[in-house]
Amino acid sequence: MDPNCIFCKILWWEIPSVKIRENDDFVAILDAFPNRKGMTLVLSKDHYSSDIFQLDNDFLAKYMKATKEVVGLLKKWLNVEKVWLIIEWLEVDHAHIKLYPFYNWMWFQTGVWSWPQESLENLNIVANEIKDRNS
Ligand SMILES: [Zn+2]
Repeated sequence: MDPNCIFCKILWWEIPSVKIRENDDFVAILDAFPNRKGMTLVLSKDHYSSDIFQLDNDFLAKYMKATKEVVGLLKKWLNVEKVWLIIEWLEVDHAHIKLYPFYNWMWFQTGVWSWPQESLENLNIVANEIKDRNS
C-alpha cells in the first residue's frame, strides 16, 4: 500500500466505495465520478504503476480475465452490448482499468471525462443492479 495513493486508500477502506466484484488480486468498484450509469474501475489490490504493460504477462492475463468478467456483468445487468475499456495513467498512479457501458451515441460524445461526484447511496442503487448474483 502507498499511503499517498487514493486507490490504495479506497482498497483499505479509508475512503468509502461501492464494490461490484472482487477476487484475490482485483476489485471492481463503481467510479465515484461517473459520466454514465455503471462506469467502473477495475483496480489491482496491490499498488502497481498505472502503466500496466510493465506487469508480468501472467499477472496481466489475470487482470484481463478479471476485467472480462466485470464487462460480462455490466453487459448483462445494464443491458448494453458494448463496454469501453480505457487504460490511462493521467492522474492516479495505481493500476486501473476504466470501463464505460456504451448506451448510445449521445454517450459517446461525453467521452471519458468525469462528472460530479455521485452519492454512495445512488452508487449502491446501481451496484445492486449489477452485482454478481451468482447467475
Ligand atoms: Zn495505490
